Amino acid sequence: MIIARTIGELQVAKKALSGTIGFVPTMGALHQGHLSLIQEARKENEHLIVSIFVNPTQFLEGEDLDAYPRKDEADIKICELAKVDILFMPSIEDMYEEDELCIGAPAVRGYVLEGEKRPGHFDGMLQVVMKLLNLSGATHAYFGKKDAQQLALITQMTKNYFMDVNIVPCEIVRDDRGLALSSRNVYLQGDEKERALCLSKSLKKATHMILAKELDVASIKTEMLQVLNEADKVEYIAIVSREFKAIDTIEIGNTIILVAAWVGKPRLIDNLWI
Ligand code: AMP
Repeated sequence: MIIARTIGELQVAKKALSGTIGFVPTMGALHQGHLSLIQEARKENEHLIVSIFVNPTQFLEGEDLDAYPRKDEADIKICELAKVDILFMPSIEDMYEEDELCIGAPAVRGYVLEGEKRPGHFDGMLQVVMKLLNLSGATHAYFGKKDAQQLALITQMTKNYFMDVNIVPCEIVRDDRGLALSSRNVYLQGDEKERALCLSKSLKKATHMILAKELDVASIKTEMLQVLNEADKVEYIAIVSREFKAIDTIEIGNTIILVAAWVGKPRLIDNLWI
C-alpha cells in the first residue's frame, strides 16, 4: 500500500493505475461501517483508493473539529489489511487555499433536516467531495446510506456537474444491538450507550407499524417520538420521499425515515430506507 500524504505523491502513485478505480472518502477513525465500503470497493474495482481527511469546512463553529477522533496508525493497518492500493492522507494546507471558489448545496434539498440544523455543513462537504473525486480519478465512489442526505446531495452534484463517476450507495452497518456505527460513538459514556439504542429502536417501531399496514406519517412519527424519549434531545424525526420531499403517507420503495438526536455528548443520526 502506498501512503500519499501530498497531492503530488497521490499523482505519482496514480500514474501506475489503469482500469476501474474504486474510491472511499472518510474522515478516519475507521470502523466496520467504513470497512464495509472499502471491501465493496475492493471487490468491484481493479484499484482502490481510500482517503482520510478531517475536512474543516464541513464543521460549523462550535462543533467537534478539534476533538474529532483521530487514529492514524490503526487506520493505516486497517487499510493495509483491506488491500487498499493508495491511502491518501493530505494536509489542510494541501487541500485549500485562501478565498476559494465554493460549491453551494441546493436551496431546498440542501437546507432541510441536516442542512437546516447544520447550515453550511453540506457546502463544505460537497466542496471536499468534489476535490477528492477529482483528485482520485475515481470511476466508482462508495458512500454509506447512514448519511442519507449527504449521499443524495453527492449523487445530485455528480449529475448537475456531469461528473464521470458512479456513486455507489452502501448499506448501514450496525453493532449487534442495532446501534449504527459511527466514529462519534466513542463519545458515548455509561448509560448513554444503552440510551443511544433508542434511535434504531424508533426505526424498528416504524418498521413494525408499516408491516402492520400503518402508512400514516403523523401516526408513525408520534409512536417514534415515544421511543426516542430516552435521548436527551430529539432534533428531528422526518419521513420523506427519496427526493427529500415531505410526504403524508408512506410510499413503499420511495421513502426514507430519518432521526437525529443528542445522547450525552454526541449528536447521533440514523435512518431507514423503506
Ligand atoms: P465519515 O468518516 O463519517 O465521513 O464516513 C465516511 C463514509 O463512511 C461515509 O460515506 C459514511 O456514510 C460511511 N459510513 C459511516 N458510518 C457508516 C455505517 N455505520 N454504515 C455504513 N456506512 C457508514
